[in-house]
Amino acid sequence: MNSLKIDFLGTGTSQGVPVIGCGCEVCQSTMVKNKRLRSSVLIKSGNCSVVIDCGPDFRQQMLRSKCQQLDAVVLTHEHMDHIAGLDDVRPFNFKTKLDMPIYCTKRVADRLKEQFSYAFSAEKYPGSPCFEIIDINPNENFKIGEEIWTPILAEHGTWPVMGFRIRDFVYLTDISGISHLESKKILGSKVLVLNALRKSKHVSHFSLDEAVSFAKSMNVPEVYLTHASHQLGLDKDVNSSLPEGYYLAYDGLKITIQ
Ligand SMILES: [Zn+2]
Ligand SMILES: [Zn+2]
Ligand SMILES: [Zn+2]
Repeated sequence: MNSLKIDFLGTGTSQGVPVIGCGCEVCQSTMVKNKRLRSSVLIKSGNCSVVIDCGPDFRQQMLRSKCQQLDAVVLTHEHMDHIAGLDDVRPFNFKTKLDMPIYCTKRVADRLKEQFSYAFSAEKYPGSPCFEIIDINPNENFKIGEEIWTPILAEHGTWPVMGFRIRDFVYLTDISGISHLESKKILGSKVLVLNALRKSKHVSHFSLDEAVSFAKSMNVPEVYLTHASHQLGLDKDVNSSLPEGYYLAYDGLKITIQ
């Protein structure tokens, strides 16, 4: 079986890090690991490449990771930091002459039809992005290339958000809670990517302590924290405070899962 290659394209919260106009020590840091584009991962299995989420930094992320081919986009939810880059799938449309498959819930698709109405209109202007919306729901696995994806429904404040399990890899971002039933889908996994916004509590995102205690309750041995704000602190300080097997992810981090 092919290995799963995970490339962290972005590990920052909605504003990214540094934040425009902020003078805090994290935003002023010259260390590369303290610079975070909006959260996204590129997942490669064999010759199939998929991104989870497509935020405003998508173009830069595709160039930086030297991504030549993209077979699908999977969306966790409809917030702008996860969808705003979709217009930039056009180079892939032009290259392949195919619509880009976008896997998302009906709720997210409805939002895309508002946000990118020009791409769904009957009279599209030449050069508009071409999307093929593929409905997903929390009760049904779906397949992309050779990989089975299991959707995991979680809570993002009062909004629904979708996480995903592929083999023993789980990706959960923008969550603040999850039902007992859905959390069972995480059990037995070996690598978990999970959001940790900042040290203090937030209405719709796990704080650092909440993320760590949730990951511990799931018994996953290897945990990477993502969707970090500048308020979380410097990479080296956060990393040195984490339990064994837990890491603060950074842009450009690559992991391989057998
Ligand atoms: Zn977000
Ligand atoms: Zn700052
Ligand atoms: Zn969000």
